[in-house]
Amino acid sequence: MLGLMMLEPLRIAGLIEHAAKWHADTEIVTRLVEGGFHRYTYAAAHRRSKQLANALTELGINWGDRVGTLAWNTHRHFELYYGISGMGAVCHTINPRLFPEQLVYIINHAEDRLVFFDLTFLPLVERLAPLCPTVEAWVLMTNRAHMPEATTLPGEVRCYEDLLAAQNDEFVWPVFDENMASSLCYTSGTTDQPKGVLYSHRSTLLHSYAASLPDCFNCSARDVVLPVVPMFHVNAWGIPYAAPMNGCKLVLPGPGLDAASLYELYEQEGVTFTAGVPTIWFGLLQFMREKKLRFSTLKNMIVGGASCPPALLKAFDEELGVTIRHAWGMTETSPLGTVCTLKSQQLSLSPDEQFAIQSKQGRAIFGVDMKIVDDEGQELPHDGVAFGDLLVRGPFIVADYYRAGEPGELTKSGWFRTGDVATIDPNGFMQITDRSKDVIKSGGEWISSIELENLAVGHPAVAEAAVIGVPHSKWSERPLLIIVVRPGHEVTAEEILSFYEGKVASWWKPNAVEFVQQLPHTATGKLLKTQLRKDFAGYVLGG
Ligand code: AMP
Repeated sequence: MLGLMMLEPLRIAGLIEHAAKWHADTEIVTRLVEGGFHRYTYAAAHRRSKQLANALTELGINWGDRVGTLAWNTHRHFELYYGISGMGAVCHTINPRLFPEQLVYIINHAEDRLVFFDLTFLPLVERLAPLCPTVEAWVLMTNRAHMPEATTLPGEVRCYEDLLAAQNDEFVWPVFDENMASSLCYTSGTTDQPKGVLYSHRSTLLHSYAASLPDCFNCSARDVVLPVVPMFHVNAWGIPYAAPMNGCKLVLPGPGLDAASLYELYEQEGVTFTAGVPTIWFGLLQFMREKKLRFSTLKNMIVGGASCPPALLKAFDEELGVTIRHAWGMTETSPLGTVCTLKSQQLSLSPDEQFAIQSKQGRAIFGVDMKIVDDEGQELPHDGVAFGDLLVRGPFIVADYYRAGEPGELTKSGWFRTGDVATIDPNGFMQITDRSKDVIKSGGEWISSIELENLAVGHPAVAEAAVIGVPHSKWSERPLLIIVVRPGHEVTAEEILSFYEGKVASWWKPNAVEFVQQLPHTATGKLLKTQLRKDFAGYVLGG
């Protein structure tokens, strides 16, 4: 027997309609690429999203067509999220930090018909355009006054504000199957070509509900939310959807991602909640310490995308009064998979014990099931010790990559293999120990490079650390620690190594330390260990 409830498809346009109706006056504030600030309300953003949908229709965009964006977190990008997906097309957010060859590959693979881009990226777009034959028009996301006099782009460059000005704001968002594609995001592809993850309206809405839960973002109509995580990287972790769902004031930092610009915005706009990768928070912490600053309103922070060392959690909590929640996810998981929020029985533990738990990646959020398995695919116990391949499944987890592989092949076991290696403890807290290809196998036992890195950055002289496995005659592989020293500090290899005493099993201690000026990173800010392994190929361990 079927239930007798309304069959209203979940659609992205429903989010902005809701915010425009019930949070009409709530603001969206943007630091503009052109300089200065822009400020309007959800009601106004809805009207402009409808103008944009009319413009897209006039440009011949149909349901399912891919429309690219190369843009910062701004109100115009927000309108594109809603205008494109809302009218039935696919909003393809492109990460400008990828190599130009990867960008060309992605735009051609997606067969984008239009690409909207910020002024910052004009020189990049001039290089890409001749190599992207499917793109019929390039639209510069600015007003007439900031349009360049000439560009080398083939054909006319369209002006975003002119496109909107030519349209009225009457548009009825179409109703369609909630499983229709809404947006497309390519993985950063450190080893292979990037792969497209094609989200649906349904997966996006379910992810948005899950992200809003108290043990996740816990955001409400009383919150002021600033996503530092870019809208070109897994939909800014879903914040541009969760904010209108919950009626949060939204603050968009544009290209101003340095600590001083962020701090200014936090204070100016009364931000209560923010989200970004650890590197951003390390930079902010250093800035706050140097300038002896405090936050007036900021209370909650999500850190994810890379492992969050306990030292960072502790510093924000004890020095700045900000609670950090550690989250794990992937482009393939929309992206939230787990968030680390303590359970009530853990609140009586000592602060350091609590920080140790909080530096784990956390518990599965509703909508995500996970397990760890051994090489034979056998499920491993939740004892916090057994390491295994992490598998996930759920309604906002990828089923297939876009136009890649045999349909059904990727997840034929019913699970998506994340490529991460993890433990799960008896309380259900998952901890990533490595990417499977980064695991160090010493004498048949695994050593977690992430744990060694987290400990190293707890040393006051260490700015950044990476651990890779290097060949060893007896143990087959041993850990090599590579560090960047904090400016103004000095430290020896012996001092760093003795810092590990008592913190890890003695056989985990790296065999050697190398000092470098900087470490290589991917387009999404992760350590590029493939490069490090190349740089240190043939490295010979002494002793
Ligand atoms: P991306 O698809 O670019 O977001 O990258 C996803 C990958 O980033 C995951 O498979 C993990 O290897 C890594 N990652 C994400 N969040 C964390 C975290 N909190 N701790 C450790 N690694 C993480």
